[in-house]
Amino acid sequence: MDAFGRVIDYLRISVTDRCNERCQYCMPEGYKGWAQKADHLSGAEIVKIAEAACGIGFRKFRLTGGEPLLRHDIVEIAEGIWNLPGVQTLGVSTNGTLLARHAAGLKRAGVRALNVSLDALSPGLYRQITGGDVAQVLAGIEEALAEDFEVIKLNTVLMRGVNESELWPIVQFASGLGMPVRFIELMPVSSAAVLERDRFLSVEDAMGILGGFGSLEALPDYRPGNGPARYYRHSGATAKLGFIGAVTTPDFCGTCNKLRLTADGKLRPCLGQHGELDLRGALRREEGGGVALQEALLEAIRNKPETHEFNACYEPGRPMTAIGG
Ligand code: SAM
Ligand code: SF4
Repeated sequence: MDAFGRVIDYLRISVTDRCNERCQYCMPEGYKGWAQKADHLSGAEIVKIAEAACGIGFRKFRLTGGEPLLRHDIVEIAEGIWNLPGVQTLGVSTNGTLLARHAAGLKRAGVRALNVSLDALSPGLYRQITGGDVAQVLAGIEEALAEDFEVIKLNTVLMRGVNESELWPIVQFASGLGMPVRFIELMPVSSAAVLERDRFLSVEDAMGILGGFGSLEALPDYRPGNGPARYYRHSGATAKLGFIGAVTTPDFCGTCNKLRLTADGKLRPCLGQHGELDLRGALRREEGGGVALQEALLEAIRNKPETHEFNACYEPGRPMTAIGG
């Protein structure tokens, strides 16, 4: 438990800071701050850290990035974590572009849950936002559905003046495939440019847009995976709609249950505060048993701040792609 009574049992592991897409809200234009390949944790180091985390009560793990499916050993990492005693759930967050190739391997390795980012269905707008090809994402989703994962969710970042007109088509698309979709408020974790107020679309405004197609009914007891989304049923759709009001929901951090591990071996207690704790020393001191790593994990839990600073003139330091989303 942390200093604010929150049980921290969820580790989000960034396996790489690299990506094959270029979403500006995640990676500033012209970004060159990549970690050296040599500074990336090896697969064995990642599994060792996850093992230490299991030993102090972590139960939920997610592989993310950057784009985690760029890592050639992603299936081995997933398998290594899934086989640890105590792991209850293992998820992967992906942009979906390489999913068609990896879905079967990830399922076999033990991955239970997939989050696939989809900010637009229109190919032109998808390319404008991400630099990528939405057809690859759709093929990835199709392959993942064939593999019968326990849960596949869509993630859509809300951007005023960019993808409002895509929100309802995405809901219909998700309904057709029987998937929940989560709408995420834009967080200031890339460059100052995405902080501009005229780009920000709150979850309340997104509900207003979707409310134009039918009524929304809150589902307060529906909290799959204890995630940060507040879910709703929509009278005109079968998909459950989650809203992640990271910036505007007043008590957003009250239920936070996670630490982040960056691809270069730093523990980050909060996405919206710059503090990080380097695990490399603990990894070097580690001679089995995981004690030094466990002490570092416990220190990061002790240092976990009560709330993010997104509403207190937070200036992005390392962008999302470097921290891990
Ligand atoms: N590449 C994978 C993907 O796109 O899903 C995994 C990493 S990505 C950083 C994880 C999630 O963070 C994605 O759903 C992405 O849309 C979201 N994200 C990135 N930058 C964001 C921002 N500035 N505000 C809100 N969500 C953001
Ligand atoms: Fe890449 Fe995901 Fe960031 Fe987009 S959100 S740049 S796909 S890591």
